[in-house]
Amino acid sequence: MRKCRKCGKRAVVYLPQHRIAFCKEHYLEWYTKRVEETIREFRMFDREEKVLVAVSGGKDSLSLWQVLHSLGYHAEGLYIHLGIGEYSERSKAVCKRFAEERGLTLHMLELEKVIASVPTIKSLESRPACSFCGQLKRYYMNRFAKEGGFSVVATGHNLDDEVATLFANTLSWQVDYMARQAPLLPEESGFVRKVKPLFKFTEKENALYAFLSGIEYLEEECPFAEGASSLRYKRLLSQIEEESPGTKLRFYLDFLRRVRPMLEKGPALRPCKVCGEPTQGEVCGVCRLRERLTSKALSS
Ligand code: SF4
Ligand code: ZN
Ligand code: ZN
Repeated sequence: MRKCRKCGKRAVVYLPQHRIAFCKEHYLEWYTKRVEETIREFRMFDREEKVLVAVSGGKDSLSLWQVLHSLGYHAEGLYIHLGIGEYSERSKAVCKRFAEERGLTLHMLELEKVIASVPTIKSLESRPACSFCGQLKRYYMNRFAKEGGFSVVATGHNLDDEVATLFANTLSWQVDYMARQAPLLPEESGFVRKVKPLFKFTEKENALYAFLSGIEYLEEECPFAEGASSLRYKRLLSQIEEESPGTKLRFYLDFLRRVRPMLEKGPALRPCKVCGEPTQGEVCGVCRLRERLTSKALSS
């Protein structure tokens, strides 16, 4: 029987990459302390600021909102309804219940009302849903934060997400993307600050926090996630991690420490001619998408 490192009672959690075991109480304490340390280490935000947490109903984003709330930060949630049938309805209900039970403020934005639902766009675009969906979420999150007076947007990206993205970007040498991958992206020409306070935790560690702190989250994955290459990379990386615990965290922290500082920032940003949001070209990707959707709808 493993014993809790802190109190010696029976452990319910063992973390191979850290070689430590905890009881429920001390796991929650360890997790919370590690989030606070990460926020301080990267100077993500302070208690005077309004933080907008991007929530999807899954374990990562709800754990993030819960832990920020428990640490006394002013964190409000934003749920973007993507219009993906029953999946969107269920995830919306989970977020609403979470906020209501804790007396927290949850904002909602319906993609259908501002551009079109993910399935509608999918039927008109040839690229994978995740590529435009991610772009739209980042765009509307940024706009919403600016309009609502939030100085920072926090997302629940975990270590597995970050390592899979870095791995994919390395395989195709997407150096521009690698330069923009970090736990903190400072505010810059129309972009609010973006932070990932959970980037040091694995998916499993977030699930444990959610479970042990009584969060009801949606376990169901988005139907479009199926077949995404990031899932394949996650599986591969988990095999490596199983054989050598700690590889993922080392890979990512070493990238931040040794490689990222050498990468050059991409081209300068300027306001989009149509909507004013920051972009590298003349017209931003979302306005170009909107234009394509309008012309396809007119021609059909
Ligand atoms: Fe959007 Fe892809 Fe995530 Fe589904 S899996 S919510 S389509 S980014
Ligand atoms: Zn203990
Ligand atoms: Zn635009």
